Amino acid sequence: MHPDIQEIILSEEQVRARVAEIGAQISRDYEGRSVLLVAVLRGAALFIADLARAITVPVELDFMAVSSYGSSTKSSGVVRILKDLDETIEDRDVLVIEDILDTGLTLKYLLKNLASRKPASLEVVTLLNKEGKQRVPISCKYIGFAIPDEFVVGYGLDFSEKYRNLPYIGILKPAAYLD
Ligand code: 5GP
Repeated sequence: MHPDIQEIILSEEQVRARVAEIGAQISRDYEGRSVLLVAVLRGAALFIADLARAITVPVELDFMAVSSYGSSTKSSGVVRILKDLDETIEDRDVLVIEDILDTGLTLKYLLKNLASRKPASLEVVTLLNKEGKQRVPISCKYIGFAIPDEFVVGYGLDFSEKYRNLPYIGILKPAAYLD
């Protein structure tokens, strides 16, 4: 285990198995259609890469980047689009791929923005959901895991751009925030 990690809450095997399950569920739900996966960079990059390979219907990938956190660990609620989609989503079946749903402020803004572009359907996949933390209601069709309200890193999630490459999801030791 990485020395800055206090506790692993989701092992590499648990994440892999759940991603496979979600992929299978999406493949069933979208049978006969193709789906456009839209990941929110950078946290969801690893998740979309694994999820796409677990889906058997045709998929296309596109990416957006928004600013929400900076390098602090509290949600600011301020969302800015840093990189927009490359393709139009009108009449497409769109699945927004998120790493983690915390207050929901980022996603609420994003969904409103994407809905205005008239996709045929628009649903959300989040790997992690911090239960009880949502300040705005978000309907999320696919949820990987409900997790406690702790700041987690790994499998794409960072603290100051570090730890994204950990293959598991863990809670950071308080001392690691001070470095
Ligand atoms: P929200 O707007 O839902 O509060 O925040 C969503 C974004 O905040 C996520 O996409 C992620 O970038 C960041 N975030 C929220 N909670 C955590 C966490 O526990 N760990 C990390 N690394 N990022 C988080």
